[in-house]
Amino acid sequence: MRQFTTLRGISSCGSKFAVVRVKANSREVVEIHDLCRNKNVCPVCMGIQYRKLTIALASLVEEWNEDIGSIYTQTLTLPNRTRRLIYKHEDLSATWSAMTKSKAFAALKREFNMSQYLRVTEDVLNGLKSFPHFHVTWFFHTKTDDNRMSEFCNRIATLWVHFAAKGGVRGALASKQWYGPIFGTGKGYAQYVFKHGFLDLSFDPKSRLQTSSGLKPLDHLRTLVETGDMGLLETWLDYEIATFRRHRVQLSSKFTWTNR
Ligand SMILES: [Zn+2]
Repeated sequence: MRQFTTLRGISSCGSKFAVVRVKANSREVVEIHDLCRNKNVCPVCMGIQYRKLTIALASLVEEWNEDIGSIYTQTLTLPNRTRRLIYKHEDLSATWSAMTKSKAFAALKREFNMSQYLRVTEDVLNGLKSFPHFHVTWFFHTKTDDNRMSEFCNRIATLWVHFAAKGGVRGALASKQWYGPIFGTGKGYAQYVFKHGFLDLSFDPKSRLQTSSGLKPLDHLRTLVETGDMGLLETWLDYEIATFRRHRVQLSSKFTWTNR
């Protein structure tokens, strides 16, 4: 499948080559894999990277809830206009950047003692109806009750709409908006947050022909390769361009994974 992608480095990802380690009196030849580490499109690396992130987030959530404070999750979307994916990604990215660099955002962080965040991009690919959006995890540095965290999210949503409008994206938040507290151990939540990074073998590419709903990027790629449905190619190429050099997983500055 990686042969199908047009980006440099991905079609050769995972290739093996030999290197040598020279010590005092010996030369040790080791075989290493050259991995591209692309989290947007590489069917080899997405799973490897997402697995590491799933494990790290699960233990962080558990530790944070036990020892530090509280956690809330929020989805941020924009009205899904019929446009090419590259413009949707640009709008999301510009809105996020304007919001997080604003004084209002800094003030909100201080007021609610929200000390770090993790933002994960998800894409549901479906031609011009493709729907990229953000899943954000907010980490509050003190125990914070649900009502207060929900208030934080409402104020974030207001800022989000404000900065979207400022950047020319009109309309309210899209309907697939949701938020809620994350309790206890983080295993289920971490799996949820990073669900898009894996090749899903229970997904049947032929089923794509009977449904018009969107697909996760790797499901889309697999359907394209296995069914040879060239109608899916345009969306895939759009997706490659739209996500090029974008961070799929974005951490706030000085993000800490663990204190233990
Ligand atoms: Zn790779």
